[in-house]
Amino acid sequence: MRKLFISTAVAVSALIFAVVLYQRRPAPVPLGDDLRDAPRSINGDVKKVLQDLKSGEQDSSVPEVSDHVTVEPPPGLPADISGPSVKIYFVSVGQGDSEYIELPNGKNALIDAGPPDPKGVIYPDPNNPAPPPDPDTLPDPPIAQFLSERGVSRIDYMVLTHPHADHYGGMRYIFNKLEVGHFYDTGIDNSAATEDDGVREKAKNEPGCAISYPAEGDTLEWGSGVEAKVYHSCPNPGKSSDYGPEAGNFINDCSIVIRLAYQGSSVLFVGDMGGAAEVQVAQTYGEKIRSNVLKVGHHGSAHSTAEAFLNAVKPNIAYIEVGHNNYGHPTASTLSRLKDAGALIHRSDQDGTQEYSIGGKPQVLSYEQTRY
Ligand SMILES: [Zn+2]
Repeated sequence: MRKLFISTAVAVSALIFAVVLYQRRPAPVPLGDDLRDAPRSINGDVKKVLQDLKSGEQDSSVPEVSDHVTVEPPPGLPADISGPSVKIYFVSVGQGDSEYIELPNGKNALIDAGPPDPKGVIYPDPNNPAPPPDPDTLPDPPIAQFLSERGVSRIDYMVLTHPHADHYGGMRYIFNKLEVGHFYDTGIDNSAATEDDGVREKAKNEPGCAISYPAEGDTLEWGSGVEAKVYHSCPNPGKSSDYGPEAGNFINDCSIVIRLAYQGSSVLFVGDMGGAAEVQVAQTYGEKIRSNVLKVGHHGSAHSTAEAFLNAVKPNIAYIEVGHNNYGHPTASTLSRLKDAGALIHRSDQDGTQEYSIGGKPQVLSYEQTRY
């Protein structure tokens, strides 16, 4: 069984230098029937293999059992791999996005900060529009636990891909409790929300914090050896109310899209960009957006992850950040398209926080699973 797992891992990771799956206790949110009914991701196969590996060794009732499988790297890797790696954490924050990145120069980046609440409750709550007297008194957002566990006191580069609450919900906390060196924003204003304005006000008042609006074609200065290139965004000022019933989709399609490349490996972060915008990016850039890893768009919505886009990206691994929701995320159709594209799928609602490392030494493929 171990050999089977190794051959599978090598086959899907021919260009990947190191992969570490770091499992954490999932957010205490029950899965809805819509998610339970969704087909199992092909990651389930990996889980099965890992469970088989320890069958007979552990009582299944024992909590916090770790499996660690390390294999030799596949042949054909570039010879110039050296120095520290880039570590990317796809943080389990419930229904929302947050990716924390440790850069090789010791600095860090955070792309989105998840929702204000693990259940994805937005503020202000449309069912109870009266805001609390002081939004700074709200409970800590889900991202707070991850950052405090890692002792993070400063975010050097913070990106708000687009102004929806499941992406900016944790940013007020971050501006209140941590230092922020640079805030990257999109120009669109969410006319139906007030807290996106609140977060932007926090950014303006953050001492020493630069604010910029990346445009397509820009490269973010995240340190030597790392290329963080922008392939899509809406840098110019605009209001979502100008787009009537399509306002929500327009905001999603304004997501800042960043491809992070380091030592020959790459990760594509697409926010909640929809399928039409994905196809436009694919037609414009073709193989330039090919990436080993895809942060799947819009939590696995049926309206993202277009086949033509996948044909350009060709991801080996797909991370879906999703929690309890009423939208049916991730949808069976999106999971099917990812599977057909040959991507190994990981979901934050099933697998918890995931860590993915690229570059650096030692060059190993390493999977770790902790079962709670
Ligand atoms: Zn979202």
